[in-house]
Amino acid sequence: MAAIMAVADSMGRSDAMVTMAKKAAKHGGNSSARVALPALLRLPLPQNASAIKQQFHEELQKRWLVHWRNSPRYEKVRRLNPQFPPKVYFTAHDKLNRRAANLIMQIRTQHIPLNKYLHRIKCAPSTRCEQCHEFTGTDTPKTTRHFLFECQAYVRERFKFAQGLGRKAKDIRYIMSKPEFIVWLARYITDTQRF
Ligand SMILES: [Zn+2]
Repeated sequence: MAAIMAVADSMGRSDAMVTMAKKAAKHGGNSSARVALPALLRLPLPQNASAIKQQFHEELQKRWLVHWRNSPRYEKVRRLNPQFPPKVYFTAHDKLNRRAANLIMQIRTQHIPLNKYLHRIKCAPSTRCEQCHEFTGTDTPKTTRHFLFECQAYVRERFKFAQGLGRKAKDIRYIMSKPEFIVWLARYITDTQRF
């Protein structure tokens, strides 16, 4: 409205027009009732499609966050990644296919189908890592940590992963803190062909 007033002044219009502009700026003006307008002007103004999409996406994220913060898994994931920045989550997951995104979420919630978890829900006879047992005779539990950072069956796949992440390659919190690291992790999981 300040712009309208400036234009009215600069065009040397009547005092009445300047008064109207001032009134509009102050009170929103004397708008016509919608029913008094011609049919075409009663329709809402067309909106930009990408703006609508963006608005929808933001609304969805807001709702998801509320839902997520009330879920029982929230505290578990917070322990793994205290910041759990939603932006990181969404950015990383946009770059992953659905299967990889699901596996990353399972790692976050520690519900990845490895023997430690499967045994707890009575879907595996023991917690041990079968690969390590086969090669070394040990009964090392197949935990998320074991699968990601220790299991001897995936040394080759892990080498690439470690090269990408450097000395922090065994820090799951660090890995979960940046989208590009999460993508590295997803690539490792895919390379193991374990799932
Ligand atoms: Zn193993």
